Amino acid sequence: MKKIQMVDLKGQYNDIKDVVNTSIENVIENTAFINGPKVHEFQKNLEAYLGVKHVIPCANGTDALQIAMMGLGLKPGDEVITADFTFAATVEVIALLNLTPVLVDVNKDDFNIDIEAIKKAITPKTKAIVPVHLFGQCANMEAILEIAKAHNLFVIEDNAQAIGANYTYKNGTKAKAGTIGNVGATSFFPSKNLGAYGDGGAIFTNDDDLAHTIRGIVNHGMYERYHHDVVGVNSRLDSIQAAVLDAKLPKLDGYNKARQMAAKKYNAAFKGIDAIITPHLSNGCGETICDTCDCHVFHQYTLKVKDVDRDALVKHLNEQGIPCGVYYPIPLHKQKAYTDERYNEADFPVTNQLVKEVISLPMHTELDDEQIEFITATIIKFING
Ligand SMILES: *Cc1c(COP(=O)(O)O)cnc(C)c1O
Repeated sequence: MKKIQMVDLKGQYNDIKDVVNTSIENVIENTAFINGPKVHEFQKNLEAYLGVKHVIPCANGTDALQIAMMGLGLKPGDEVITADFTFAATVEVIALLNLTPVLVDVNKDDFNIDIEAIKKAITPKTKAIVPVHLFGQCANMEAILEIAKAHNLFVIEDNAQAIGANYTYKNGTKAKAGTIGNVGATSFFPSKNLGAYGDGGAIFTNDDDLAHTIRGIVNHGMYERYHHDVVGVNSRLDSIQAAVLDAKLPKLDGYNKARQMAAKKYNAAFKGIDAIITPHLSNGCGETICDTCDCHVFHQYTLKVKDVDRDALVKHLNEQGIPCGVYYPIPLHKQKAYTDERYNEADFPVTNQLVKEVISLPMHTELDDEQIEFITATIIKFING
């Protein structure tokens, strides 16, 4: 059996080596390392793939979130509602801009932001909601858009984990994750579903004015050379990363399909094991992963374990050569940097429980049947004692 990895970037590279190497070599040959033609090409190809009017590449996903908030003109003291159960980048940029983060609980089934909790958290100072499409499927965007409309709020999608996923509206129309709210932000960190060979990120919007504003912000607030109209940042996707991403973009749907098929095999193996709760598909897909599934791109395959010592399970799997992750072990509202006396433990029952129960299994495009069988058999054996 091949050594099991949480993410197998080498196996994926072997398959696209020639295209990627040639593309990188071309960038080096023509030395347009910053804002070269390859960045523009990738931008255009990603716009077409997502069906969005504007993609603005930038240096990483955290910057993408920050720049989106700057572009919307959010001001110190404005309250921004986001999920308690996510990676810290989301809340970090809110705090960095001197906005006020307001963390709310998530759903116990799909781990995404809880609609009722958003409603409860709205005050006259609320200016934006940041749903995080956690682990690869969209938050309940229709409900979020409705709340945003009623209270005149911006919706900023943290799409770092769900690139390529579709969101299906009640009337059956679909849109790509990250293109639904006012603005979306994504990350091309190497382990993300569309990963570069270094850092990278992008901002998506259908709003022409916002796109223009953001294009200036990523480049020192310049709309005309050496004229600085707004305070900006230096946040660029470099041409070598664009070359890698542009070579991988045509493969993204296939990569996501490979993840879904791995998830389907995991699900099948865990069927009937009461102590294991497999991922819930919440966007119209029902309980099973069908062959045309487009609602979940499984950035992570995350189980909940009931009446099982989760940490002992993690230790056991590691000892058996099976890497796994706990995303996330501590609710953001309990992190030193983000505690706030306004928070009440009773407002976070789901996150407080999830941090004890979740475990994410190896998930990437190169997992084979033998590995999946070994992983699932090892887990089931541990649980059955
Ligand atoms: C990865 C990630 C980010 C940050 O992306 P970077 O490119 O690492 O800065 C933000 N939000 C979520 C939910 C992420 O998973």
